[in-house]
Amino acid sequence: MSVAPTSTLVVKVGSSSVVDDDGRISTGMLDKLATEVAACRRDGMSVVIVTSGAIAAGRPQLGIEAGASVDDSVLRAASAVGQTSLMRAFEIALAAHGLLAGQILLAPTDFMFRNRYLKSRGTLQALLQLGVVPIINENDPIADEEIRFGDNDRLSALVAHLIEASKLILLTDTAGLFTADPRVDDTASLIEEIIEIDQTLEAAAGGPRSEQSKGGMASKLAAAKIATWSGVETVIAFAGRDHVVVEAAAGTPGVGTTFRAKDQRLSARKLWIGFALPASGRVVVDDGARQALQAKQRSLLSAGVVAVEGGFDIDDAVEIVDTDGQVFAKGRVRWTSADIEANAGRQTAELPEALGDEVIHRDDLVILPQ
Ligand code: GLU
Repeated sequence: MSVAPTSTLVVKVGSSSVVDDDGRISTGMLDKLATEVAACRRDGMSVVIVTSGAIAAGRPQLGIEAGASVDDSVLRAASAVGQTSLMRAFEIALAAHGLLAGQILLAPTDFMFRNRYLKSRGTLQALLQLGVVPIINENDPIADEEIRFGDNDRLSALVAHLIEASKLILLTDTAGLFTADPRVDDTASLIEEIIEIDQTLEAAAGGPRSEQSKGGMASKLAAAKIATWSGVETVIAFAGRDHVVVEAAAGTPGVGTTFRAKDQRLSARKLWIGFALPASGRVVVDDGARQALQAKQRSLLSAGVVAVEGGFDIDDAVEIVDTDGQVFAKGRVRWTSADIEANAGRQTAELPEALGDEVIHRDDLVILPQ
């Protein structure tokens, strides 16, 4: 086995960069990516690729026109066909540099169940140590409509945390994040550095640009939020730019939009609760509880609970909202929704004995970026 590399990049490339409008895999783009991966590896880094494009590449092979409305099972079938072609193309492109590709298909449940999460991490680490370039996509053929990632941006951010990557590079069809939509406003300029992702920025991010791309800027911002919250610097840059991966890795000015990482590194458990587990309901809390949770990192007690929305079980994840309806935290409950509702507002001393003291223990609680 080779020596474990000191830093790992997660490079995500979208459908619109990998597949052209006719559904042909862009071998030029894959060759360029493979050349950049090889250069990064010569510089002592290792690279994980998260790629989209399976559905876009599979559709024409099955005679399904872009934009045609077809059953979801047919799209899943298209992804199964396209994924094979995509992997073959990556295999050929990497082989030209003496590199091996290894495919991993992930579903949200792989991040929800801790044993699968650890297993995915172990396999990725083994691939990297063996010098293989892992190529990841969502497991579209078995994706559940309700809980699928749907875009690979969030998936790539979770992968970056999973393997404690040094950088997440989101390659797309624009140069980065602009002050306004450059398609309609010619005074728009590239924002080179972002320290904090706030609501103004989120409002400025537009939807997808093309038929092929699922995510758009809003989903890239959401991914950057997850990654930077887990201590991973994130860069959004133009996939077609020369040496984009090498320059983004080196932090070359003007390469795209860079989001600075937070100093904190959320534990795997907290990131998992905050960003991977879907919320099964909501717990509304009063101002005192919000303060205690946010400023003092306390556990949530029944005394601070005002109301419950939805039905959920012990260990389910819920959003925690203040009385203005603002979601500010997420956590895993130790009580059922029925018990929380029945005891809302009660002091701990007044609780039935069978219930523990905490509705949500502080170890299971994540304060979300606002
Ligand atoms: N996983 C999907 C595919 O490979 C695409 C998701 C995305 O566009 O981000 O076709």
